[in-house]
Amino acid sequence: MTEIDPIALTQDLIRCPSVTPAEAGALDLLQGVLEELGFVCHRLPFQEDGTDRVDNLYARLGTAAPNLCFAGHTDVVPVGQAASWSTDPFAATVRDGMLIGRGASDMKGAIAAWVAAVSHRLASVGPVSGSISLLITGDEEGPSVNGTKKMLPALAELGERIDHCITGEPTNPTALGTMMKIGRRGSLNGYITARGVQGHTGYPHLADNAAHRLTRMLASLVDWRIDEGSDHFEPSVLSVTRVEVDNEATNVVPALATARFNIRYNDLHTGASLEDALRVRLTEAAGDGADFDLDIVVSGESFLTPPGLLSDLLVEACEAVTGNRPELSTTGGTSDSRFIKDYCPVVDFGLVGKTMHQVDERVETADITSLRDIYVQVIDRYFEKAAS
Ligand SMILES: [Zn+2]
Repeated sequence: MTEIDPIALTQDLIRCPSVTPAEAGALDLLQGVLEELGFVCHRLPFQEDGTDRVDNLYARLGTAAPNLCFAGHTDVVPVGQAASWSTDPFAATVRDGMLIGRGASDMKGAIAAWVAAVSHRLASVGPVSGSISLLITGDEEGPSVNGTKKMLPALAELGERIDHCITGEPTNPTALGTMMKIGRRGSLNGYITARGVQGHTGYPHLADNAAHRLTRMLASLVDWRIDEGSDHFEPSVLSVTRVEVDNEATNVVPALATARFNIRYNDLHTGASLEDALRVRLTEAAGDGADFDLDIVVSGESFLTPPGLLSDLLVEACEAVTGNRPELSTTGGTSDSRFIKDYCPVVDFGLVGKTMHQVDERVETADITSLRDIYVQVIDRYFEKAAS
């Protein structure tokens, strides 16, 4: 069996301009490569009302347990300022040891590294005593409603069981092998509408200033030390993201003021527990007789895969290949692991993410090869342990 070159496969994937929700040939290409390796592939397209149709791919090699899964996405964010790129974003140019292109880091390079790792394993040692699978969505960078979120229950219905999962998001800040993500903070958006009574600024006692009510509420949010952090998480943080008082006049007390805020929260809270705390806090701050609405939208709860088999395997593999010992982190934005965590232990580990979503997104070609080597070690050791 011929081994797959992870750099060439990354380039082939980048040349499919799969900006969400376009498939652009990326999943077809991947399916072809995986079928050559013996994977059985299923396409799982979904379309919720009012959203774009999204194509997804699940591929499995073997039928026995345990099933070690790699989760990822072939969709990419738009190129942004096209004129600022030093090369065509979809040409997959290699220059000075760097592969430049949209999706190089986030995360076509990691998908290619995983596929190449499987091909290496098959060519060198042979089949695993269990199964290797890939869960690849085309809807991670978009609304994320027609991808992983829908694939998991659909696969469970088909009787598919995933035992452990590695999500190939770019987790390393600057050097490969320095950071994995074992959980993520939750994210909540709050919308405040404060209502008062309009009046003359010369006679404010006859009015009820909505801007003053809102200002007191925001001050209480800004001053809030939500917690001190937990074993694996930093302290939760709140940011006011928008404040609006639509008032053209300088002599009118406004009757309406609105604001938005975002909270990134750790595993000491849920969206519901924070909402309760926010209502108490804001009611107190707004003062007697205040009239306001608080709407809360939770975009993802916090989660944690406690250190264990997956993180141990990744630490060993990173040390062996790069000499670095990766930190077990829960910082940064979220990933599709927030859906996977309801099904099995999941850890994120991929390439260096420094340039993700940027103009001239790029990775060192040597890192793609090293990531392949790390994944090879994880696969070998995972099934060694499973067999023993
Ligand atoms: Zn990504």
